[in-house]
Amino acid sequence: MLPPDPVPLYIGGVRRNAESGATFDTLNPATNALLRRVQRACEADVDAAVDAAQRAQTAWAATAPVERGRILRRAARILRDRRDEIARVETLDTGRPIAETPEADVDSAADCLEFFGGIAAGVRGEHIDLGGPFAYTKREPLGVCGGIGAWNYPIQIAAWKSAPALACGNAMVFKPAELTPLTACVLHDVLAEAGLPEGLFNVVHGFGDTGQMLTRHPGIAKVSLTGEVGTGKKVMADAAETLKVVTMELGGKSPLIVFDDAHLDNAVGGAMLGNFFSQGEICSNGTRVFVHADVLEDFLDRLCARTERMRLGDPLDPETDVGPLISREHMERVLGFIDSGTREGARLLMGGERAQAGALADGNYVQPTIFVDASDDMTIVREEIFGPVMTVLPFRDEAEVVERANATPYGLAAGVFTNDLTRAHRVVGKLDAGTCWVNAYNLTPIEMPFGPVKQSGFGRENGWAAIEAYTRLKSVYVEMGDVESPY
Ligand code: NDP
Repeated sequence: MLPPDPVPLYIGGVRRNAESGATFDTLNPATNALLRRVQRACEADVDAAVDAAQRAQTAWAATAPVERGRILRRAARILRDRRDEIARVETLDTGRPIAETPEADVDSAADCLEFFGGIAAGVRGEHIDLGGPFAYTKREPLGVCGGIGAWNYPIQIAAWKSAPALACGNAMVFKPAELTPLTACVLHDVLAEAGLPEGLFNVVHGFGDTGQMLTRHPGIAKVSLTGEVGTGKKVMADAAETLKVVTMELGGKSPLIVFDDAHLDNAVGGAMLGNFFSQGEICSNGTRVFVHADVLEDFLDRLCARTERMRLGDPLDPETDVGPLISREHMERVLGFIDSGTREGARLLMGGERAQAGALADGNYVQPTIFVDASDDMTIVREEIFGPVMTVLPFRDEAEVVERANATPYGLAAGVFTNDLTRAHRVVGKLDAGTCWVNAYNLTPIEMPFGPVKQSGFGRENGWAAIEAYTRLKSVYVEMGDVESPY
């Protein structure tokens, strides 16, 4: 299912080369060998994609929602039928272990198409009782939406943005991250096979400037970005020119709090899931692991024993737990953070190095890394690392840990491990985070809204909230008698 080489743009249902003839390379993170050349969209291509989307959207908005939903659900079935092939493409492009991608990427994208396919026909407004006059609201599509994706969960991000948009009668022009352009193309072909009319889902490849062309384009009504905080600020400034609706899923530095009454094995499992799954390349990771001082030693013993068993290796090997980071540049960045941790006085308990023995030599592998004896002002505790690096920080008091957990400009997620239900809800109520897990971590079922607060962004994806994010509300007042006018 690998797209052809060079990977085309998908505009109006047609595979096209970029007008400029420019291409860029996408590499396999496990080897840094060329995987595919990719057509690089220029302004004329973005204009063509928006034009195709606008032309298709009018008829799509007039299509019965039940039919829109049927097409999305059909696409979900096709994804599930080709789960393993698609997962392989995702693993080649991202470096994420094949043990993860079928469920975490392909099933997640299929769930999304199924969910929004299911509720497409349930999108409705409300009747407002005014006594005599009749008033109601209706939800209408926004028009053409722009989706800009990050590289860590490419097909999932493409589905999270496109499925609700399409369910509501919008068209989508999607720009995948330059580092992972492949599975958005797969999604295009799956949607086409499911019967989605041409022009409703377009893929334009490129760099940040392509994303900027979408954000500035007057024909686009809304932009949904998944990316870094710095990118979010630029997108917001660019969107201001045309007063676009924007939704932003940005970075994080989330706290994961383990109280002394927690089921320790579960808490250790949660901390590993929230730091080492997908090589740590997850926005919501709980990279600040606060552990009650009374159970710290026990927690660390269990954590090290289990981390030691993790296997780094070829992401296509089903036994591999930790694959390569997305790029050499990103690996150097993560290693730079690790270096800053030791320089600033934290103690490396495990890992901390590039793994390059034997077959790993050409890839971007970093060992799962655990820091202790760190303070809250250190770089590794303040900044998003986006790699397999966790810092374990002791605490004594509930009020103290809540204050420290919130002492960050980010607000994406948080985790609390405790067997005291009252405390769990009390603490969750005080945490500045868009999503909180109790005795779990990093689970994002499609039914549950997911999104940030503070500088991690705004807006929600998934659940009914996504329907609100891809529709505009119209209020209608109908006079049932004569107009009462003073004139
Ligand atoms: P970036 O912000 O670098 O890029 C995200 C996307 O934005 C890419 O497609 C990028 O293109 C594009 N882009 C870059 N500059 C602009 C611009 N000026 N205008 C419009 N688009 C632009 O993020 P990464 O791809 O490096 O992804 C990692 C980041 O994403 C982390 O911070 C992570 O926390 C965050 N993230 C957040 C999630 C959430 O739900 N909150 C989920 C997943 C990741 P190009 O590829 O060319 O750079």
